[in-house]
Amino acid sequence: MSDTYDLVVIGAGSGGVRAARMAATYGAKVAVIEEFRVGGTCVIRGCVPKKLYVYASRFNDLFDVASSFGWQVDASFDWPTLVAAKEKEITRLEHAYTSNLEKPGVEIIKDRALVTGPNTVHLVAGDRDLTAKYILVATGAAPFVPPIPGYQLGITSNEAFDLPALPHSILIEGGGYIAVEFATIFAGLGVDTTIIYRGDCILRGFDDDMRRGLEAGLIDRGIKLIYQTTIKSLARHGDDIAATFSDGVTAPYGVVMFATGRNPNVRGLGLETAGVKLTPAGAIAVDAYSQTSCPSIYAVGDVTGRAALTPVAIREGWYFAETVFNNNKLAVDHSQIPTAVFSEPEIGVIGLTEGEAATHGDIDVYVARFRPMINTLSTRTERMVLKLITEKDGGKVLGCHILGPGAAEMIQLIAIPMGMTATKADFDRAIALHPSAAEELVTFKAPSYVYRDGQKV
Ligand SMILES: Cc1cc2nc3c(=O)[nH]c(=O)nc-3n(C[C@H](O)[C@H](O)[C@H](O)COP(=O)(O)OP(=O)(O)OC[C@H]3O[C@@H](n4cnc5c(N)ncnc54)[C@H](O)[C@@H]3O)c2cc1C
Repeated sequence: MSDTYDLVVIGAGSGGVRAARMAATYGAKVAVIEEFRVGGTCVIRGCVPKKLYVYASRFNDLFDVASSFGWQVDASFDWPTLVAAKEKEITRLEHAYTSNLEKPGVEIIKDRALVTGPNTVHLVAGDRDLTAKYILVATGAAPFVPPIPGYQLGITSNEAFDLPALPHSILIEGGGYIAVEFATIFAGLGVDTTIIYRGDCILRGFDDDMRRGLEAGLIDRGIKLIYQTTIKSLARHGDDIAATFSDGVTAPYGVVMFATGRNPNVRGLGLETAGVKLTPAGAIAVDAYSQTSCPSIYAVGDVTGRAALTPVAIREGWYFAETVFNNNKLAVDHSQIPTAVFSEPEIGVIGLTEGEAATHGDIDVYVARFRPMINTLSTRTERMVLKLITEKDGGKVLGCHILGPGAAEMIQLIAIPMGMTATKADFDRAIALHPSAAEELVTFKAPSYVYRDGQKV
């Protein structure tokens, strides 16, 4: 087979797979090079295994309320069973992704790829070169680990899914969504869990009601939060790891996990050989059509540092293929992306936070706080929060923030009217579905409070 292609894709993750498949469907000769497993982060060690583990951990909350519905539960948990079931499912998905690539004729090459020029890629293990009219870099991102003494003793989300055994305790450094999701997973599975974070509240950038609400939920589930502190060093301590903090305290933990951010995978890729420029944050700089500073090289997904989410990478990959191989120039709109945090309680958000919206004009804020129905028979007091932010006097909906059961599913659907620039009146026109939590979003009467000239009234 010739080593000349219309398109060589580096990375068979969310963005790369979609781009390769679509380009091949449009008649291009495509090769995709993957050094690990087809499916990438999302399928192998991201969204999919994470959500499966979230489901596993949520039985704990259900057992908690079960007796109030008449159930007597005597449950125990087996970690190896979960790990094996997860492995079976991601292997099934890996095969599905592989066959979806092969069906339209994409050649899959298992190797590490390096860019060696505007139209050439080198295969490291195979020690051969490929020539391509276009190269798509879709190499994703990798966990950043702070270079502290003993950092090698810690793990990242990559290893967390396959720990040989559940630890008695875990220390998770970070305050982002990966940190809080893994904290609720491990705490739900019975692990003594601590989050250590340099900031003063988890989930920086989220709406304050979501941050404080989740913080209370984590504490309620026994998760300890240490703020304004970092890990300075790690050392062996018998079977445990001793973590020394920036305040001088040292404490032992079964496992220490870094969830301290992710860096675009650009190191050692050879991008400089083709004049591909990076952003100040170290991601590949691209234009609205995902084209880099080298006209024959495009980049999509996490490596571009736009929005590190699977559906965004997929959309960027698809629109790249439309633009380059289907004569249909399309740019991804990154302005309104629904996002979830699969913590316990769950968060789903879209649009502006209250803080952001209040600085951009006069707004009305509608907030409902109530015990979700599943808690009402039990002694659980945890409340759900639904917040709708609109332009003043019932204008355009600017943001929606939900904390509680089903938040992610609700926000996915709210993304539709928001994409159509729906107003409060459009929401009001919908007939409520009862009994549901989401009905609150279409039955808000007067605003809970408003902002006028930047001031809360
Ligand atoms: C723990 C965790 C949970 C997450 N949860 C969610 C979630 O709930 N929802 C969501 O939307 N997103 C989630 N994400 C983010 C999501 O996984 C990423 O945004 C998405 O996978 C990005 O796709 P991508 O195509 O850019 O890169 P990736 O999927 O990372 O794929 C890149 C691929 O390139 C390969 N590669 C890298 N360099 C080379 C090379 N030189 N040669 C050959 N191959 C190479 C890698 O092995 C990898 O397979 C999560 C991420 C993590 C880590």
